[in-house]
Amino acid sequence: MPPKLCENCNGNRASLRRPKNGHILCQECFFSIFETEVHETIVKEELFQPNDVVALGASGGKDSTVLIHLMTTLNERYQYGLQLILVSIDEGIVGYRDDSLETVKRNSSFYKLPLHILSYKELYGWTMDEIVNVSGLRNSCTFCGVFRRQALEKGSLLTGASKIVTGHNADDMAETILMNFFRADAPRLARSTCAISGGKDGTIARVKPLKYAYEKEIVLYAHFKKLDYFTTECTYSKDAFRGTARALLKEMEAVRPRCIADIVATGESLCVREVDASPGQAPRPCSRCGFVTSQRLCRACVLLQSLQQGNPLAALRNTVVE
Ligand code: SF4
Ligand code: ZN
Repeated sequence: MPPKLCENCNGNRASLRRPKNGHILCQECFFSIFETEVHETIVKEELFQPNDVVALGASGGKDSTVLIHLMTTLNERYQYGLQLILVSIDEGIVGYRDDSLETVKRNSSFYKLPLHILSYKELYGWTMDEIVNVSGLRNSCTFCGVFRRQALEKGSLLTGASKIVTGHNADDMAETILMNFFRADAPRLARSTCAISGGKDGTIARVKPLKYAYEKEIVLYAHFKKLDYFTTECTYSKDAFRGTARALLKEMEAVRPRCIADIVATGESLCVREVDASPGQAPRPCSRCGFVTSQRLCRACVLLQSLQQGNPLAALRNTVVE
């Protein structure tokens, strides 16, 4: 049998089947289509303005490494006029984050982008290893999620950035939509589908240019482009609820690959009533650290207080992992 030809250019030998829609493509066409789709998200959703100072959340993993590569490539190709900076959060997880940060440092010099590293230890006085020691494995991701969100924002503000860009992909979006749906969390459901959120009331805008990119395609892109990324999983357990949503999504994807894109589209077209979408209280600065919150104390300060008082589980009851 003659080798199959790429369905897009009809000239090159095909080397992959696109996970998103089953199209048979050569490598060059896959790169071009994948990059163009991300560019179209950026343009259609008006994610950036010329001269924006943009902090790219860099963890060393596949998503953020593909994000760094794409943002550098597209910024040059389409002249977005962005100033790109890498921001990494060191949670203090020995054997995991210390190794992945080495990957980020290599990418920082490869792409010639400045890198700022901010640690939980310097921000909060605790490393994740120390927190797990006192609060147990089960709650690690709850502490870590709240602290990371805030740390990324504080780190980005220190660099003078006006936007934080994260590597959240379509699978992450679909998982989050399912989780918020299953726990009837209308405010988070309303926020979770946006490609750009925040940026008002003293918060920094958060941007997700990979929100339509399938995780499997990000892996293929990183692999064929031979990007330098870190694959080891975190030593601590993943949040159990997200893990269940993820497993369900993978099962559904195996039966119907389009379902990831469809869940994201469903989330986007859902109209949450304004009264349900609002978190209730008007945003104001946390009375302890100044971070914008709807309560007197922000979630990070509540968790920190409970750690300092030696009762880390007390504050977890009302804390939701995003
Ligand atoms: Fe933090 Fe949990 Fe992610 Fe590990 S798996 S880095 S503890 S959120
Ligand atoms: Zn606070």
